[in-house]
Amino acid sequence: MLTASLIHRKRQGEPLRPREWRALIAEFVAGRVPDYQMSALLMAVVFQGMAPEELDALTDAMLASGETLSFGADVPPRVDKHSTGGVGDKVSLVLAPLVASCGLAVPMIAGRGLGHTGGTLDKLESIPGFRTALTREEAERQVARVGCVIMGQTPDIVPADRRLYALRDATATVACLPLIAASIMSKKLAEDLQGLVLDVKTGSGAFLPDRARAVALAKTMVALGAARGCPTTALLTAMDRPLGHACGNALEAEEALLALRGEGPPDLLEVTLALGIEMLLAGGVESDRGAARTSLQAALDSGQAAERFATMIDAQGGNPAVLDDPAVLPQAPAQRVWTSPTSGVVQQVAPRPIGMAIVEMGGGRRTMDDDIDPAVGLVITAKPGDSVERGQPLATVHARDELGLDVGMRALDEAIAVGHEMPGDVLRLVQGLG
Ligand code: URA
Repeated sequence: MLTASLIHRKRQGEPLRPREWRALIAEFVAGRVPDYQMSALLMAVVFQGMAPEELDALTDAMLASGETLSFGADVPPRVDKHSTGGVGDKVSLVLAPLVASCGLAVPMIAGRGLGHTGGTLDKLESIPGFRTALTREEAERQVARVGCVIMGQTPDIVPADRRLYALRDATATVACLPLIAASIMSKKLAEDLQGLVLDVKTGSGAFLPDRARAVALAKTMVALGAARGCPTTALLTAMDRPLGHACGNALEAEEALLALRGEGPPDLLEVTLALGIEMLLAGGVESDRGAARTSLQAALDSGQAAERFATMIDAQGGNPAVLDDPAVLPQAPAQRVWTSPTSGVVQQVAPRPIGMAIVEMGGGRRTMDDDIDPAVGLVITAKPGDSVERGQPLATVHARDELGLDVGMRALDEAIAVGHEMPGDVLRLVQGLG
């Protein structure tokens, strides 16, 4: 296989054959296609797209690059959800234990921060001791015992996505419909699921901001799942402002804990419940949406969901004391409050500058080998449509030094607009595909 000639053909807009995609991925995972060639090919895909047969072949090759999870008849039906990526999106941390406490199993393979968006693994790893690199056997045992696991791609499980994901993050090749679809579906198809619910983000902070592109992504992934025996549904959710208040790894872990105690921000709860309802229906433990919502709410109110999270943290080596004492999480040494420059109505809280600032402050990666600072981030209480007074505190920057504080404050200046009219174009939080 001559990789340079495949890159050339793709660059010219010629589809590669399914067997060429299979060979490429196998050779890449075996270390015989270097990162620089794969990066060039990914960039060609960003510009040229992929034919449906190419996407099928890429997804299948990524899935086949490693082992897959499998569960015995004694394990409850498996369901999962995956988000296409957003700012402040800590839903997975709440949803996995919540749905497990309603009688289903959730074997979640998640990702790290990608571009301007945060990653579930980075958020969980802010909990001291928490391990996301599990073997297949460890993950299967944990799901059988605890009902849920949240783990990363490993050298043995979807290794192709593990390497491509990190490469895409560092080479500006994330925002590409077929690459997102193959990345997400290769992970989810490795989980031995009975049902999958996709949270497809739309709005300025999404990788594909335009609604029509988000719907196309959702339909592509639903079709990939259905064709491979994994019933898949999708909701569109708003990413024209951050979800919840906290943005940044440890800050988001703390907010997820609050949500599990029923004290989270209302928008986080609404998205979590909407996705959870679909998961309970997909897993067959509930047959109507009203009853599913009642079960989820009861699991939150009774403390069962929070307890399940503590058990999961403990099983994965983390310190479960974090549940009662968020001070266990890393804390940024410097804080600064951002106040409203004028009285009026919040017009927008743009997620993208917030996400980019967190990367710049050290909370995300600029290159594949970067370590991240889990403590940095921003907590923004303002939402579009809120009435505010001049001088009212709307956000706090958490940074490691003065430089980080300045980056965070500048991002807030850019992201938050206060005007005099009700903003007209705020997206509905949860939408169907229609
Ligand atoms: N989530 C993933 O797992 N992959 C992507 O490419 C984007 C979001």
